[in-house]
Amino acid sequence: MIDIDRARQIVDAAERIVVLTGAGISTDSGIPDFRGPNGVWTRNPAAEKAATLSHYLDDPRVRILAWRNRIDHRMWSADPNQGHAAVTELRRQGRLVAVITQNVDGLHQAAGLDDIDVIEVHGTSRFTICWQCHDRRPMDEILERVRLGEQDPPCERCGGILKSDTISFGQSLVPEVIDRAFEVAGRCDTLIAVGSTLQVYPVAGVVPHAANHGAKIVIVNAEPTGMDDLADVIVRGSIGELLPDLVRRRRAGGPN
Ligand code: NAD
Repeated sequence: MIDIDRARQIVDAAERIVVLTGAGISTDSGIPDFRGPNGVWTRNPAAEKAATLSHYLDDPRVRILAWRNRIDHRMWSADPNQGHAAVTELRRQGRLVAVITQNVDGLHQAAGLDDIDVIEVHGTSRFTICWQCHDRRPMDEILERVRLGEQDPPCERCGGILKSDTISFGQSLVPEVIDRAFEVAGRCDTLIAVGSTLQVYPVAGVVPHAANHGAKIVIVNAEPTGMDDLADVIVRGSIGELLPDLVRRRRAGGPN
């Protein structure tokens, strides 16, 4: 049996699905990944350094550059694609336990999922956070200040440093968020890992965790991943083409 048929069979039989998504699900929306063949870090390794917390907090030049790059980022104009729609379709079918995402782009919610359905282990770019008083604001509000001329906008409440509400290198994950990711992975019957290199920890650890709790593992990616050995089936190719096909119900009597 070829891989796509085997994957269809597994997904069709699944009743409690967790989808783990990485940057690869959003490349069709025009947001580049970091480690794929055309990824931001593959082409410019120095960019990885700029995503480190200590550099951001210690060096105003790093922050000025970060804000300048942010106002023009493709993320703000990106729309969800077929891959995001396929994940939303699983919820419509009543089979989605949750999405665990490494992404910070908010596109699963833009595709119709509620915040409660989406476990954003690396935070979100849609909000900023004050490093000092933890005031949280919509990103749009702060970007407007940058457009009006502030190069490194401080918190309006306390004057502290603002950063996007994402997890930078050197920053701890939010314990309740990563705990919830492991909790849902431990009670699904199928985990579909989509567009992630599965090399970023601890989130990649949800794959062996789900497997150890008896879940089937389906990997959808154009390239090899760090967890291919654990997969029941690997489907190689374009997410936008493969995922809508995989989630379509074929079983007689299932919801359509
Ligand atoms: P990654 O960039 O390391 O890997 C992306 C993976 O998806 C690669 O294996 C690549 O081969 C694959 N891929 C890319 N486009 C694909 C397509 N159309 N079809 C099939 N496969 C495709 O991403 P990562 O493992 O998610 O880790 C990087 C970290 O950077 C993430 O944890 C995330 O926090 C952050 N990030 C987020 C975004 C976003 O929010 N959209 C974008 C870039 C990076």
